[in-house]
Amino acid sequence: MIRRRPLGLPMPRSVVHAGAPRCPSCALAPRWCICGLVAPVTTAIPVLVLIHRQELAKPSSTGSLVARVMPGAGVHAYSRISRHLPPTGLPDDAAPPGHELLVLHPAGAALEPAAAGSPPPCLLLLDGTWRQAAEMLRAVEGLGRCVRLPAHAPRASRFWVRQQRAAGCLATAETLAIALDLLGDAAAAGGLRLHFELHVLATLLSRGKREEAERFLVDSPLLASHPGILDHFAGRGPTPGRP
Ligand SMILES: [Zn+2]
Repeated sequence: MIRRRPLGLPMPRSVVHAGAPRCPSCALAPRWCICGLVAPVTTAIPVLVLIHRQELAKPSSTGSLVARVMPGAGVHAYSRISRHLPPTGLPDDAAPPGHELLVLHPAGAALEPAAAGSPPPCLLLLDGTWRQAAEMLRAVEGLGRCVRLPAHAPRASRFWVRQQRAAGCLATAETLAIALDLLGDAAAAGGLRLHFELHVLATLLSRGKREEAERFLVDSPLLASHPGILDHFAGRGPTPGRP
């Protein structure tokens, strides 16, 4: 377990000004709150997330999702106030001693399990738009080795709440789940996927996209793990015919 640096994640601005009560953790309205529906995810593989300051303002951020559901993850906020000032972000000693920092980004070499005798990996996810991720990648240059998901890894994103830039562009939590699988922690990968699927489903429902949510569920592992999930949410809603 790596140490966790307090980040003091601010409430997303769109939530602060929304007026309606929101869960202080998942930022969804109480009816759609997903907290506690899946156990927290633990892994022996150290995980770090560098979240761009602007991404922190988005309730749909899956970097923030990882921060919430993986209590062992080290989470850091990246910001650069001016081109003339150095950015604040990942400390030089963020990775645990003796580990190799692997920065997940498409520009790297294919991720492979650590060879015998080589230092164990510490995964770093860069959470933001592609432009922001490229900027953060430059900021962490020299702290670790850049790696990407191998060609045979799943490429179809299930992040239905945002328009992905192109086929093969995965959300931060999806990327991390695949990386955990590749490094041999299928249990953590499976747990994280369930959190991600709930995050997407509840966000779609909270936006009134019921039909889309039902289509999303067709291929979701939630069908097996949480077969009554739609009834669960419906049970929290207003009773028809009552004030
Ligand atoms: Zn919640």
